[in-house]
Amino acid sequence: MSSINRNLDQFPHILVLGMGGTIAGLAPNPNENPLQYEAGQVEVRALLAHVQSAIPSGTALVSRQVANINSRDLSNGELSELGCVVREALVNPMVAGIVITHGTDTIEETGIFLQLTCGNNAQNLGKRVILTGAMFPANAPKADGPSNLLDAIRWASTPLDNCPGGIYAVMDGRACMAMDLAKRHASALNAPIMGSPSSSAGLINPSWLSGVKAVEAAWTEDLPIPKENEWSWVEILTSHAGARSEMVSHWLNSEVSGLILAGSGMGGLHQEWQKPLMEAAYRGIALVRTTRTGAGVTLPNMPDKEMPGCLASGTLSAPRARIALQLALNAEKQAKLAGKSLTWQDFFARIAVLPEIR
Ligand code: ASP
Repeated sequence: MSSINRNLDQFPHILVLGMGGTIAGLAPNPNENPLQYEAGQVEVRALLAHVQSAIPSGTALVSRQVANINSRDLSNGELSELGCVVREALVNPMVAGIVITHGTDTIEETGIFLQLTCGNNAQNLGKRVILTGAMFPANAPKADGPSNLLDAIRWASTPLDNCPGGIYAVMDGRACMAMDLAKRHASALNAPIMGSPSSSAGLINPSWLSGVKAVEAAWTEDLPIPKENEWSWVEILTSHAGARSEMVSHWLNSEVSGLILAGSGMGGLHQEWQKPLMEAAYRGIALVRTTRTGAGVTLPNMPDKEMPGCLASGTLSAPRARIALQLALNAEKQAKLAGKSLTWQDFFARIAVLPEIR
C-alpha cells in the first residue's frame, strides 16, 4: 500500500509517512470508552488536515500512506517498504525532513531498524527522521496524537541547537533517539519513550546531545535493507523459572536461522537450556543473549553466562536484538554475494557496541 500527495513534492517539504497505529485509530464510543478502538483507520492526510492551523507557516508538507495497520501486525515486507521509502526520501533534495506516524506496539522494532539501515545516511545528509505515535485514538477527547504530530513536524523542520541529522522519536513532549524507544507500559502517555532523559522540542539537554553524537560517531555505515523475502527467521525465547530443554530443542529441526535468548538478570540462561543450545550452535543457528529485565546492558565475557557461538546483545532489548540479528544475517548474505568474507557476528558486533544514552 502506498499513495502520495504529489501537489507539493517539487518544492522543499517535510515528508509525513503514515503507518497507522492508535494515532490513526477510531473508537466507536470515544467519550465512554476511548481505549476500545480500532488502530489504523484514518489516513495520514486527514491527520495532517486536523492540525493544519497549528503548523508553522512556511512549512510545506507532503503525505504518503505506506501502510495503515495495527503495528502489532507489522510485517517484514512493510518494514522493508518503509526502509526503502525513507532511504529514497533522504537523498531527495526536496525533502528537508521526514515524520513517520506509527503504532506504538512495535515502534521499538521500527526505531532500531531505521537507525541501522538509514541512520548514517540521515546523519551525513543532515536530515532528521522523526517517529511518533499516540496512546489515545484520533477521535478520543484527550487524543494525544495531534500534539505529538505537531512536535514531530517541528523536530523534523526546525534547526535545533546543533542537533544533527539522524533517526529520532518524539512523544508526550519528550524526544529520544529512535533506537532507544521501548514500550514499557501498556497505557501511559509516554509509554514508548519512558525513562528517556531528554528533551522537549526546542530545548535540548546537552548531555543527551553528546550521547547522540557518540552513537553517530560509532555508527559509520548503514546495513542493507532486506527485500521482503530476504528476512531470516529469528525467534525470541525467554528463560524463566522451571524452563524446559524442549523450548530450545523444539527449534533444532526447524528452518529457524537465529534465536534471541532473553535471559534473567544480566542475561543468564536456565541450565536446562545448555545442552540444546550447544546443539543449536553446532547446527549453525545464530544465538544472541540478552536480558528479559527490559533495561541495562548484557555484557560479553561473563564466564558463568558465556556460551560458545553466542554473542551478547549489549544495550539491545530482545525485540531490538531480533531486528539487529536479522539485519546482520542479511548483511552476511549480501557480503558473501559481493565476495567478502564478513560474518553476521562481524555485523552484530558493530551494533552491540552502540552506546546507551542515559
Ligand atoms: N496497537 C496499537 C498499534 O501499535 C497501539 C498504538 O498505536 O499505540 O498500532
